[in-house]
Amino acid sequence: MTDVIGFHYTLKSDAGEVLDSSSGGHPMLYLAGSGQILPALDKEMSEMKVGDTKSVTLSPKEAYGVIKPELKMNVKLGQFPPGTEVKPGLQFRINSDPRSPMFRVINVLGEEVFIDGNHELAGETLHFDIEVTEKRKATKDEIAHGHAHGAGGHHH
Ligand SMILES: [Zn+2]
Repeated sequence: MTDVIGFHYTLKSDAGEVLDSSSGGHPMLYLAGSGQILPALDKEMSEMKVGDTKSVTLSPKEAYGVIKPELKMNVKLGQFPPGTEVKPGLQFRINSDPRSPMFRVINVLGEEVFIDGNHELAGETLHFDIEVTEKRKATKDEIAHGHAHGAGGHHH
């Protein structure tokens, strides 16, 4: 009884700035309950019908988490692999564990590099305008893979 749900969305910050939107493109497709999208959004859409629209506000906790000060830190330029172009916006993991946070370089001051491992949207209250465009039963493959397969858009 697992569904695949398709939806269009516009994501706005608390200040009303549009951060992301699927409008003009294909709807997002996801496998309900798989963790492909934020659980709070998944829950809302599992209760909506095709064609329904809704505005949903998510607290930082329901969205990308609160800001963890311990993930903001200074490292030395010399700690980066030789040849790395260390500049604001560079993203990297501190170790090879795929569950470890993705860090971003915020600033470089001489030998000091200020990095932040918080999600870019951590600490933000987010507003989603969503429209459910599709609901269907997931295929065996989709359930086995743990994600939705689009119309020809999915490759392995
Ligand atoms: Zn797949």
